[in-house]
Order: sequence, then structure tokens, then C-alpha cells
Amino acid sequence: MKKWFAVIGDPIAQSKSPEMHNTWYEQDGLDAAYVPIQVKAEDLEKAVNSFKLLGVSGFNITIPHKTTIIPFLDEIDETAKHMGAVNTVVRLQNGNLKGYNTDGDGFVRSLEEKIGQEHRHQPLLIIGAGGAARGIAYALKKSGYEDITVTNRTISKAEDIIDALGSGKVITSDEVSKSLGQYKILIQATPAGMQYGGEVSLPFSIEQMSKGVIAADIVYNPLMTPFLRHAKAIGGTVVTGVGMFVHQGAIAYEHWLGHYPKTEFMIERITKQLNEA
Ligand code: NAP
Repeated sequence: MKKWFAVIGDPIAQSKSPEMHNTWYEQDGLDAAYVPIQVKAEDLEKAVNSFKLLGVSGFNITIPHKTTIIPFLDEIDETAKHMGAVNTVVRLQNGNLKGYNTDGDGFVRSLEEKIGQEHRHQPLLIIGAGGAARGIAYALKKSGYEDITVTNRTISKAEDIIDALGSGKVITSDEVSKSLGQYKILIQATPAGMQYGGEVSLPFSIEQMSKGVIAADIVYNPLMTPFLRHAKAIGGTVVTGVGMFVHQGAIAYEHWLGHYPKTEFMIERITKQLNEA
């Protein structure tokens, strides 16, 4: 019988997830389909109950439902509980819906695909303290990153992340301006630089990045944000947001279908599309 999957969000038309998952199903010879569905905040509970009734095998959740979906699910995995956000739902054999979060692990896989594991002891700064930053911080800590600092416009949210991690440091935007050069790894986890994100810009200068910096951005449209362009211009290593996007989808795919799909060609394909856009 055909398996059905979906991504829900509002807006949803821009999502690249349907194309990615449908390509994997085709490659793997699966009788499955993945569709984008726009769901308004006030309709979320009804949508989740409908998926349950209709036997949808799994779905992804994007902005703005990642946190608000939690009370409507039957079970929540430990990582997602810790992060307070769900981006993947799996229908279990008994029909229960279980929430997971694959964003943080997707980011770490993408980062380490590029730089390996030898930088885990280096000082690392996460810029931003929203849902994605929280997941990334948790996954980095779990993977053995030892020296994590978080900065955010709203400082209390950065403090919440560090409290939840149980180690690490918080710094203000003013402090970042003076100390940016001390960090070997910089992770940009706000919408700054996003094509359709309005006028968001970082509340400090990025001029002080060190020459050997490893700069990762989780925004992937455009592929090269101003943050990454600067890092590249001074000879740094850059990690675009495409790898995180593909790996978070691949981990969801593995939860649903039991094996990891091919990610390398998918990263190349989406990178090419964005380069040509
Ligand atoms: P979120 O929960 O809304 O958090 C947004 C973060 O950005 C907060 O830290 C917020 O600071 C900060 N921010 C927003 N506007 C700002 C401004 N004008 N100046 C300074 N800081 C600002 O969003 P999210 O879910 O974490 O997502 C963040 C970005 O990551 C989005 O662009 C999203 O598309 C992208 N993303 C990419 C992937 C991927 O697979 N590559 C996955 C998930 C998300 P405050 O706390 O002060 O509001």
C-alpha cells in the first residue's frame, strides 16, 4: 500500500522538502509520496488528528508549528523534549504519533562532513538562541564539543540554552564585537542574510573574524550569506545551510523508512539549484 508523508507549515510553498523526499523514494523504488500542506496555527490540532485518522506514515513540521504541535502528539522523544521543538513525526505501529527533532543532529553531520571531528575542543560561538540554535547547541554538546558560547539579541534566551546544557558561556552583542576573533568555529543561527527574511542583520560587526575561522550558516537561501561571504573572503572555511537541511531530512527519512538515504548527491543538487537561482 502506498505510504503518505507530508510537511506542514505556514507558509509552505517555498519548502524544498517535497522534492527532496520524493526523489529519494523514486531512487529507492518505494511506493510513497510526500506533499506540502499549508496549515494555519488555529487548525494545527485538527490537522494532526486528521493525519492520525488517515494513517499518514509521517510528517515534518516547519515554522511556525515546531513548538505548538507538542501537546497534540502522543509521545515525544528525549532530544525533542529537551529542545522543546519537534520537526519530525513518526506514526508508530500502534498508531501513536511520536515527535522527534532532527535539526541539531542534521547540523552536526553537515559540519563534521566538512571539517571532521578534530575541532571538538576548539572555542565555538553560536549566534542566535531560537529553536534551531537550541537544537544545535544540544547536538554539539552531545557530540563532545567542549567549549560552547551563545550570544543572542535577547540575552535571557541564550542563558536558557546554557542552563539547559549545564556548561558553557553567554556573551552580549557588545562583547562579541570585541572577542569574535577568539572563536575558531562560528555558527550563524538567526535569519540574518535570508533572502525572504526582511531586513535582519546581526547586531555586531563580523569584521573581526579570525583568518582560520570555520563559519557555518544555517540559512541556505541565499547559499552564500553576507556572513559566509566575509568568512570566505578572509580565507576561512565555510559550511552552508544546505547540508543541515539535507541531513535533517535524511534522519527523518531513516526514522520513517529504516535506512539512511543518499545525501551527497542531494547536497550537490540543491546547492546547484540555489547557485543558479
Ligand atoms: P526562531 O526560533 O524564530 O529564532 C530566531 C533567532 O534569530 C532568535 O535567536 C532571534 O533573536 C534571532 N533574530 C531574529 N531577528 C533578529 C534580528 N533582527 N537581529 C538579531 N537577531 C535576530 O527561528 P529558528 O527556527 O531558530 O530559525 C532560524 C533560522 O534558521 C531561520 O532563518 C530558518 O529558516 C533557519 N533554519 C534552517 C534550517 C536548515 O535546515 N538549514 C533548519 C532550521 C532553521 P531573539 O531571541 O532576540 O528574537
